[in-house]
Amino acid sequence: MIVVMRQGCTDAEIDGVQNAIESKPGIKAPIWRGEERSVIGVLGSIYPELQMELEQLPGVVEVLRVSKPYKLAGRDFRPEDTHITIGDVTIGGDEMVVMSGPCSVEGEEMLLDTAHMARKAGARILRGGAFKPRSSPYSFRGMGVEGLKLLAKAREETGLPVVTEVMTAEDVGVIAEYADILQVGARNMQNFILLDEVGKINKPILLKRGFSNTYEELLLSAEYIMAGGNQEVILCERGIRTFEDYTRNTLDLAAIPVLKRLSHLPVIADPSHGTGRWHLVAPMALAAVAAGAHGLMIEVHPNPDKALSDGPQSLTFENFQKLMEGVRSIAEVVGKQVAPTLA
Ligand code: PEP
Ligand code: MN
Repeated sequence: MIVVMRQGCTDAEIDGVQNAIESKPGIKAPIWRGEERSVIGVLGSIYPELQMELEQLPGVVEVLRVSKPYKLAGRDFRPEDTHITIGDVTIGGDEMVVMSGPCSVEGEEMLLDTAHMARKAGARILRGGAFKPRSSPYSFRGMGVEGLKLLAKAREETGLPVVTEVMTAEDVGVIAEYADILQVGARNMQNFILLDEVGKINKPILLKRGFSNTYEELLLSAEYIMAGGNQEVILCERGIRTFEDYTRNTLDLAAIPVLKRLSHLPVIADPSHGTGRWHLVAPMALAAVAAGAHGLMIEVHPNPDKALSDGPQSLTFENFQKLMEGVRSIAEVVGKQVAPTLA
């Protein structure tokens, strides 16, 4: 940080700022005296509250941060991309990894049908919610542990690793027993107790951006997980709240290149929740690939009209297969591979 002093400030004011800084253990406060203004540096590991404290002192015009408040998640300290490997799938490298499946696990047959279809179309990871965050308490809230068991069965049959949401710190253990990747959903992005808990395990975490959260807040949430010891975090742009109400959310495509610039962590996009409408999923998915996403999360259902959650944004099998053809074409243009279609 640097502290910019008011023009013509007094020596006593400068001393006051330097003393406030140097009273913190291990922090130095060198000063540059200019013709017009003086600037005081703050060198050392800085805690966020110090900025506000210094802003209140007499003679201070502004306190500017020069380094990022997230260290482990940021590129400044780790310039090369992080690759996260689950079985034979690597996220964050040259492959465009598609994660696909129903919003909720609703039963064995629908899950297995979807998983087999998705794998053949080129999906590499199976998604499916067993513990569902729902706006209404009367909506379907997921099959719970039964749903986790079905996901494990689908993995056994297809070989696809599984990603599923964990909603509470207490559930981390049981979800980690079944899942290959644990998803922290948009509504829980700043559930710091949950972030602490998933920071202690050694499975990758898919961290979704909260619908009212900034890039910096998303990266600080990743920092929580990483500070706990778990370095495998996948960032996910899934749309934010704006004044537009035609779409469920506004998919913020700029988030993809921005997050890739600020962080070494893999960045994926979820155009299903990002738009809320199935006919917008393909165009936004392709745009996300063009924008450099390392992966996509796509909701698919054997019969979207009958889905127990998120039917309006779920693709039919046919539309998912078509989407994958488009993803292949755009991926090639941006130099990424996509898993082949299987018979
Ligand atoms: C989901 O992936 O099913 C989900 C609930 O996502 P989000 O947290 O982005 O709303
Ligand atoms: Mn959903």
